Amino acid sequence: MMKPLSPGPLSDVKTNMPNMNPYLLLTPGPLSTTATVKEAMLRDWCTWDSEYNQLIQSIRERLVRLAAPSNPAEYTAVLMQGSGTFSVEAALGTALPCNGGKLAVLTNGAYGDRIAQIADILGISSTIIPFGEVASVQPEKLDLALEADPMITHVAVVHSETTTGILNPLAAIAEVVRRHEKTFIVDAMSSFGGIPFDIAELGIDFLVSSSNKCIQGVPGFGFVLARRQVIESCRGNARSLSLDLYDQWNTMERMQGKWRYTSPTHVVRAFDQALIELELEGGIEARHTRYTDNQRKLVEGMEAAGFTPLLPRELQSPIITSFRYPEDESFSFQSFYEALKQEGFVIYPGKVSSADTFRIGSIGEIYPDDIRRLIKAVTQYEAKRSEP
Ligand SMILES: *Cc1c(COP(=O)(O)O)cnc(C)c1O
Repeated sequence: MMKPLSPGPLSDVKTNMPNMNPYLLLTPGPLSTTATVKEAMLRDWCTWDSEYNQLIQSIRERLVRLAAPSNPAEYTAVLMQGSGTFSVEAALGTALPCNGGKLAVLTNGAYGDRIAQIADILGISSTIIPFGEVASVQPEKLDLALEADPMITHVAVVHSETTTGILNPLAAIAEVVRRHEKTFIVDAMSSFGGIPFDIAELGIDFLVSSSNKCIQGVPGFGFVLARRQVIESCRGNARSLSLDLYDQWNTMERMQGKWRYTSPTHVVRAFDQALIELELEGGIEARHTRYTDNQRKLVEGMEAAGFTPLLPRELQSPIITSFRYPEDESFSFQSFYEALKQEGFVIYPGKVSSADTFRIGSIGEIYPDDIRRLIKAVTQYEAKRSEP
């Protein structure tokens, strides 16, 4: 018989609400969220109502202020139903016109490859600039590519490559894109809200993220922060009805917070609460500090338990960390995974082809104390495994 799951951590001890989670999610999303974020979903909301529309407008405004603090007036936010990929696809398919335009895709992982795949399926002319799986995107290579191919009009990159945990050098890439005057599309799915940057300063035209990553909401919609002037010029570009980002944006603008088609009302409520809690925590800077703390404690503890991170420290994001399997053949990820789950932690399989790895996330409603308990569980598991 299976052992019942242990009750799990009391992460919600701050709010005095019972924690009903059997485990913490140490994954790249969906993440562990607070009880109060989940509680926001306990009622039904109508959408044909000014109260709901005002909430949408407030969420859009707050997103713009978080993303472009130095120049919020130049930017606008649009929310889109679906998971993060839907918003990436909507942004690409709306930013690039049906005839003409060429996209350069910088890729060093599965999410960069996914951008290339979307371009392919949408019939967007594209060129892929690959950097393997365990190296950072090099801005110099983009510089050369833009020099060599004047047909390129748009550049896309993933900021935090969740495949491995690599943090790409966004400011240096942005500088090259700006100098060549191209339209810049950034998949900041797993970094926005957890790593401070200013899209107005960097000159980003489209930034894509979703409800269930570092803002710490639940899954159900994505959002795009767009330079107002650029999205205004995208009318009629889209190859899709439901993923027409221009039309979605235009409807939200004209009708003051109205979505086209059914919106994920409960998820929106939870997201509003998550934004309030981000502010209470002290904003993106404070959240970044907590994630960085989590990640540092994670690596220290895992190294002490005999595990090696896949990436050198200088490439590593505070978001998620890949670890190599131990060298001895007796290690089984499945059994490790199950043992940690029994102790109240869910980790994530690896995604690189060049090495056997697993991943542990440091984002969500996770604190250094949770990491300490995880390390204790890992250390105990490893001690047992090495017994003769
Ligand atoms: C999570 C994530 C996505 C979107 O994935 P969905 O499963 O569609 O939500 C895209 N890019 C990156 C870098 C991500 O981490």
